[in-house]
Amino acid sequence: MGDLQGKVALVTGASRGIGQAIARELANAGASLLLAARGEEACRALADEIGASADACYLDVADYDSVKAAVGAAISRFGRLDILINNAGVNDPIGLVGNADPAGWARCIEINLIGVHNMVHASLPMMRASGEGVIVNISSGAAFLALEGWSAYCASKAGVAMLTASIAEELSGEGIRVYGLQPGTVETAMQQKIRAAGYSPVAQMQPADHLPAEVPARAVAFLCSDGGKRFNGRELRVSDKDLCDAMAAS
Ligand code: NAP
Repeated sequence: MGDLQGKVALVTGASRGIGQAIARELANAGASLLLAARGEEACRALADEIGASADACYLDVADYDSVKAAVGAAISRFGRLDILINNAGVNDPIGLVGNADPAGWARCIEINLIGVHNMVHASLPMMRASGEGVIVNISSGAAFLALEGWSAYCASKAGVAMLTASIAEELSGEGIRVYGLQPGTVETAMQQKIRAAGYSPVAQMQPADHLPAEVPARAVAFLCSDGGKRFNGRELRVSDKDLCDAMAAS
């Protein structure tokens, strides 16, 4: 694509899975990248593979001091921040309502929902100063469908979908675009955990039933490009026909 030349992106949860694939797609499109997760070493290895246009740092999205440090690192390393990919997420604890450890249930909300707010809160001043920006929140079909054993994850992702809509409502006049993207089911470490836990029909799916991470990653890179402008403010599925048609035509 190459149309993200000169743009600076921060990708959360870039240490593996969908986040790693998003980082590669954004790099291919010409963006400079800060790759961030608790697994800093894995982010660093990916940044080294991408080259001088990528750097890495430690990030716990649930910890606002850590979030501020990561946003600050992106700005001091590359001078600006144009694109925020809120991809970091967990799906544990998996278990029936009332059986999960309350602290574990709360931690899921802290990472998946409060973490997204933390990242947006820390990034907005820079985006507002430059009068433009793109935020992509990695959503889930579980935001709209209750699944047995997944109450923390479903509640957190439902919250993220409403946060996406709230951001769209508030920022539409400021040149800052926002999207929710449901990636489909994707074969990552998260799906391995789902199979091991055994709850919900998703646990019965086999690795070959899932999409490769490159499929949602390509959609994210497209939404960040000018071609994504017409979808501004929407909660999208990676399989949505208008999105697929627009990507094919780009
Ligand atoms: P994954 O392989 O488990 O990767 C999750 C990523 O999030 C890792 O890089 C992890 O890095 C990071 N992360 C977790 N907690 C974090 C924290 N507190 N601070 C910073 N980073 C954190 O899962 P995935 O499948 O790629 O999932 C990526 C996103 O897609 C998630 O938001 C998930 O909910 C969503 N999603 C996935 C599927 C699917 O089928 N796989 C479907 C729908 C939605 P560290 O552990 O190194 O911090």
